[in-house]
Parts: sequence; C-alpha cells; structure tokens
Amino acid sequence: MSDLKGKTAIVTGGASGIGEATALLYAEEGCNVVVSDVQEEKGNNLVQKIRQLNGKAIFVKADVSKPEDCEILVNKAVATFGSLDIAFNNAGIVGESNAVADMSIEGWNHVIAVNLNSVFYCMKYELLQMQKQGKGSIINNSSILGQVGFANAAGYVAAKHGVIGLTKNAALEYSSKGIRINAVGPAFINTPLLTEAGMDDNVKQSVLIPMHPIGRLGESKEVAELVVWLSSDKASFVTGSYYAIDGGYLAR
Ligand code: NAP
Repeated sequence: MSDLKGKTAIVTGGASGIGEATALLYAEEGCNVVVSDVQEEKGNNLVQKIRQLNGKAIFVKADVSKPEDCEILVNKAVATFGSLDIAFNNAGIVGESNAVADMSIEGWNHVIAVNLNSVFYCMKYELLQMQKQGKGSIINNSSILGQVGFANAAGYVAAKHGVIGLTKNAALEYSSKGIRINAVGPAFINTPLLTEAGMDDNVKQSVLIPMHPIGRLGESKEVAELVVWLSSDKASFVTGSYYAIDGGYLAR
C-alpha cells in the first residue's frame, strides 16, 4: 500500500496541465486532494471527477500572488482534512515576452508575483502548519528555465531561478524538522500554457521539439510521476534538490 494513502495534499494551479495530472495521481494514491486555482469551474470539475473515482477532494479558489489567499488555502485544507502533509506549489504563468529593456515594469512585477512571490507565500503558511505536525513534503515547480536563460523571457527565467534558490534555503532551515523541500524542473510540456503562449503545432514541431534530444515534448503525467515520488517516503533522503525532467534538454 502507498504511504501516501490518507495524506492531505495541496496542488496550486491544480485545475489544468501539470497540476491537474498531479492532483489526479495523488487521488489515485489515496490522498485527500486540495485542488486550488484561479479557474473555479475547471477546478470544481476536476474535484467532481476525483469524487466519481471514489477519491476525496475539495476545490479552494486562491490567487497565489496574494498572501492572504495562500493563508486561507492552508487553513481550509487543515480545517477540512485535519492536516497538511504535502504541497505542490505549481501555479504559474508565462508572462510578458520581451527583451529586458522593452519589458514593462508591470509585466515584470506580475510574473515575479505569480511565479516567485507565490512560492514564498505558499511555503510560509504550509511550513507553519507542517512545523506543528513535525513532518511534510513540499515540491516547488520551477523549470529548466530555473537553470538556463531563454531570450525574451527574463521575468519568467528570473522567477524560476528564484524558486530553486528559495527551495534550497527552505530545505536548509526545515530538513532537520522532518520537512523535505525539493524543486522539479520540467522542459516543454504539452499543456494549455504552451498554447496560450502562442506555441501552436507548427512552433512545437519546428522550434520546441528539436530542443529536446528525446525527440518530443513531455506530458503532464510524466511530471506528475516525479512529483508524487518526491512527495512519498520513497524519497525519504531527498531534500534541497532540483530534479530536471526534460527529455535531455539540459544535456545539450
Ligand atoms: P497551465 O496548464 O496553464 O496550468 C496552470 C494553472 O495555474 C492554470 O489553471 C492557471 O490559470 C493557474 N494560475 C495562473 N495564475 C494563477 C494564480 N495567480 N493563482 C492560482 N492559479 C493560477 O500550465 P502548466 O503548463 O501546467 O504549468 C504549471 C507550472 O509548470 C507553471 O509553474 C509553469 O511555469 C511550470 N512549467 C510548465 C512548463 C510547460 O512547458 N508547460 C515547463 C516548465 C515549467 P490561468 O489559465 O487562468 O492562467
């Protein structure tokens, strides 16, 4: 039996893409799943789907760029299921695409707020709860762009590098208290985020796929498998680490 059975897991950005696949996999493993997102209808639909599969789930609407929403999210998870054992801080956006000098101040602040500040806000309240319990596992979704640059994506790249730094620092502070904290770094994954960023099938074939030695883009379920492994006791000696899941992208 999986050690995840009966544990409570928050997934931010859980209504779509990588978050949705991870929420479904947590449910399959027997977790109580707290699906959180700004997309209320999609989030509620996913919760219905999990319940139809005999899983336990609730939806909590939260904009993770707001600290008060992150605090409420953690409080609702604990009030509903009695504990918080796992958190996948995953919500993110692509943000403004421009070279540094042309990037608007608003665009910069927005992508940093959604992709980096959010991870600090979520971790702050998750850690306060996990500290009381003396255990927990946190996984932050960075990117391969937490390791290397990508032209016209300075805000995204800076935020994702920041997520890795924040992950390492929190791991130094909390690993001896029973809380493991790690980051994952997907390369390009087939999700609505790519389509919304204007990356249609043509761009995928001609530009994105050739960047991946494996010869294809990743699928959300493949990232979910890594996140769920990191969440579980199978990864009991893993903390403060960054795991690329990238079809060889960073090996080039
Ligand atoms: P996705 O399919 O767009 O899912 C992300 C979800 O997060 C969406 O429902 C989105 O809502 C929501 N969200 C956006 N801003 C939010 C906020 N402020 N508060 C709460 N929820 C918010 O994207 P995905 O590809 O699964 O991406 C998930 C994570 O993986 C992101 O952090 C992304 O940077 C990272 N990642 C993705 C890729 C990739 O190639 N797909 C690669 C590396 C890393 P909206 O639809 O309204 O924005």
